[in-house]
Amino acid sequence: MRESLIIDCHGHYTTAPKALEDWRKRQIANLKTPELGPKVAELKISDDELRDSIETNQLRLMKERGADLTIFSPRASFMAHHIGDLNTSQTWAALCNELCYRVSQLFPDHFIGAAMLPQSPGADIRTSIAEMEKCVKEYGFVGINLNPDPSGGHWTSPPLSDRSWYPLYEKMVELDVPAMIHVSTSCNACFHTTGSHYLNADTTAFMQCLTSDLFTDFPTLKFLIPHGGGAVPYHWGRFRGLAQELKKPLLKDHLLNNIFFDTCVYHQPGIDLLTRVIPVENVLFASEMIGAVRGIDPETGHYYDDTKRYIEAANLSAAERHQIYEGNARRVFPRLDAALTQKGL
Ligand SMILES: [Zn+2]
Repeated sequence: MRESLIIDCHGHYTTAPKALEDWRKRQIANLKTPELGPKVAELKISDDELRDSIETNQLRLMKERGADLTIFSPRASFMAHHIGDLNTSQTWAALCNELCYRVSQLFPDHFIGAAMLPQSPGADIRTSIAEMEKCVKEYGFVGINLNPDPSGGHWTSPPLSDRSWYPLYEKMVELDVPAMIHVSTSCNACFHTTGSHYLNADTTAFMQCLTSDLFTDFPTLKFLIPHGGGAVPYHWGRFRGLAQELKKPLLKDHLLNNIFFDTCVYHQPGIDLLTRVIPVENVLFASEMIGAVRGIDPETGHYYDDTKRYIEAANLSAAERHQIYEGNARRVFPRLDAALTQKGL
């Protein structure tokens, strides 16, 4: 068997040039007076600046740690769908997606895009479809990030199983793109953004799917639940028991043809548990690098988010590791598979 491609299915452009953040600050400052700008054209970032921001950060670490390709989306905490209105989000999402597209063009062997959606609290999800379609068809993006809570921690949207989301799912199925379920910054003081809101949302999304028959309606719809699935793998027995009480099929039939988990779990025992509890065909390699946890673990001397080390050390066969590094990503992201096949990979 040839060596696996190491595909990191969860990376964000957290190191974008500061001009992007400055533009966003002006947009937020002028929410009530949008005529004062900034205009889209006022964001000027050169290819050299993009190259620098990637080469010295994500790409350097990918090479050091042995990852080949990252599925790359705009910075999740910056999506902040709760800020402003639909128009605010549409302009912001288009800008952020375009930057990820340019990175994918500058480094076509190392980055391929996943789209941020221009969601806004209370806005019909249909308003996100055009941006998704543009990113997939024109930018060659292979997935999307879907925020189940555009309110930023107040959970004002209906659950993911609600029919109001269905127009998006219909288009996802048509385009054959999966969604990573990914919230953004919490503006609820009870929930720390990356320490609780993210993990809560992962767990919540799973339970919303469990209690529903969403995947009976959409048998080919695929969700990738990040951060190792939140609390799901650890409490797998609880979820199995709840499904049983609700007279749902076994979870492997009810959810595991459609739901997948990434490996953004930042310690060995967590990865050991994940790969023992969740079938290997449902686990995709990821590091969410450079992301929420950037430090070095004093117990190991390695970066917490250097997740390949944990996969290497886990009790897995070579074939299972291949599934986690490459095979599953190509199955869950058919457009990624097509792009790689076209390159002879
Ligand atoms: Zn993320």
